[in-house]
Amino acid sequence: MRARWILPLLLTVGCTELGATDDGLDDGKSDSSGGFSEVDAAHTNVTFQRYIEAGVRLLERDVNSELAQLTAKSIRERRVLIDELIDLTCWDFDRARKDLPDAGLTADDWKSLQDPGSDAGKKLTENLDGYMWSNRIYVARKLTVKRLASTLIHEVNHVINRSEVGYYENLPTSGFLHEYRSFALEAQFDPAEWEGVDLVDYVITNYELDRDKIDPGAIKEPLVPELLPTKEVWDTRDVAADVPDDDALCPSNLPPPGPPEP
Ligand SMILES: [Zn+2]
Repeated sequence: MRARWILPLLLTVGCTELGATDDGLDDGKSDSSGGFSEVDAAHTNVTFQRYIEAGVRLLERDVNSELAQLTAKSIRERRVLIDELIDLTCWDFDRARKDLPDAGLTADDWKSLQDPGSDAGKKLTENLDGYMWSNRIYVARKLTVKRLASTLIHEVNHVINRSEVGYYENLPTSGFLHEYRSFALEAQFDPAEWEGVDLVDYVITNYELDRDKIDPGAIKEPLVPELLPTKEVWDTRDVAADVPDDDALCPSNLPPPGPPEP
């Protein structure tokens, strides 16, 4: 069992401005209409597509930011898949719920996750802005367009660094480095949001890491590659080689345990 303080890849709601509605988002009929691909393409709607499109276009409009340009390009080129939290695959839901022990989600909740207004969907959104595994990125709904764009930057960076593996390699130092990098890039894209925030403290506190056990060298120089989702970086990040999940073995798909053996 994972210890409580191991909160992988989570972007908690701490620094989030909630409250923007889809109606308030710019669906900008600009010239870039390259689209994106979803994790669960069978479950989608126009509102969600417009929501993501607005975030990607905001990145594309930031022509002076190589980070924003390359992140948008990665999405347009389908290097990553983007979806909402209620579209978590069975295994991704299982991972996410175990990272959120206080939310009280059970394996059974996955089956009702896509139901309108589902309790499980609400709990995920309350706890997460974004989540990723392999090249699958999930985002909460109702983020402001700027927060959404920042979250895409954060999660795409996790994908190129294969954080779902690297995060655990040398905890807590590895977890600290993976999260610090993603937040530092968010701050580069949206400095106003992070003005006055000590990112080292923020990551250690938010992810409940034991500061004394983090390599002091990592705290001194926390920003390590890979920073930008360039073509060269993608060429070495072989997503197709990631271990596939066997949905038949996913806890939410297994029959409930029978009576104990006599
Ligand atoms: Zn993260």
